[in-house]
Amino acid sequence: MKWEDFRQSENIEDRRGSDYAESGGGGFGGSSGHLGLGAMVVLGIIGYALGIDPRVLIGGAEMASQMASGGAQHQSAAPRGQMGAPKDRIGQFVAAILAENEDVWKDVLPQQANVRFVPAPVVLFNGQTRSGCGRAQSAMGPFYCPEDKKIYLDTSFFREMKQRFGGGGDFAYAYVIAHEMGHHIQDQLGTLSKWQAAQQNSSKVDANAISVRIELQADCLAGVWAANANQKWQVIEPGDVEKAVATAQAIGDDKLQEAAQGRVVPDSFTHGSAAQRVKWLQRGLQSGKISSCNTFN
Ligand SMILES: [Zn+2]
Repeated sequence: MKWEDFRQSENIEDRRGSDYAESGGGGFGGSSGHLGLGAMVVLGIIGYALGIDPRVLIGGAEMASQMASGGAQHQSAAPRGQMGAPKDRIGQFVAAILAENEDVWKDVLPQQANVRFVPAPVVLFNGQTRSGCGRAQSAMGPFYCPEDKKIYLDTSFFREMKQRFGGGGDFAYAYVIAHEMGHHIQDQLGTLSKWQAAQQNSSKVDANAISVRIELQADCLAGVWAANANQKWQVIEPGDVEKAVATAQAIGDDKLQEAAQGRVVPDSFTHGSAAQRVKWLQRGLQSGKISSCNTFN
């Protein structure tokens, strides 16, 4: 699949200012331009290599729970970015992957859950910006804000990934977008608000356990997206699933904790163990069905 050939979503709010323009070509996406399922979990490895906690990079529930505890009141007005598909290469890539997510979910969500899909805009920013969930900073990584129903992506971080990892970037970016869109799907299904409310009345340990289930479900929904995108456009190439699984095995909370402190503390997991992430990613992939993503049972 060449993402350049895809429709570009206009549902992008670009707040990056005037310094974002990418030089044409530039190596983004590599020479092949192929986007496969290897995308799914590569970001964790890249974040790890950059010394950034991958749990943050592919997180979002953390932001959501901060919001639920009432920290987002009385924000001054958010800056208004440029609406529409960006002109630069990274922006165009995001617009194409977003369009793929929109085209899958506008069919799948009504068919499988009897819910009409409402697109979630993507806000591109550099450094920091305001969100309906409080101040967004690049160090937080991409996240979904259920208050304003937008996905926030820091493209300066993407650019750093590109500079250090070249053609591997498009895989990672696609996964980020699919996972964050997964949180938006959770929001539309009502599961996000339900479990955030439950978290507020929970101990720290129980709240973390709920976060794990929210994150694993977003992984599964990203798998559902990939399965359906593959059915429509044959995006999955040989070896992609194996690579995705191998990567997921490397970035579970247990592995990260072992690396960081030499021991595993399951109560502090927020994204799930390696085995859990692999299991739920594969569930979504194999079934292509939202109903296979019930991580709360
Ligand atoms: Zn997440």
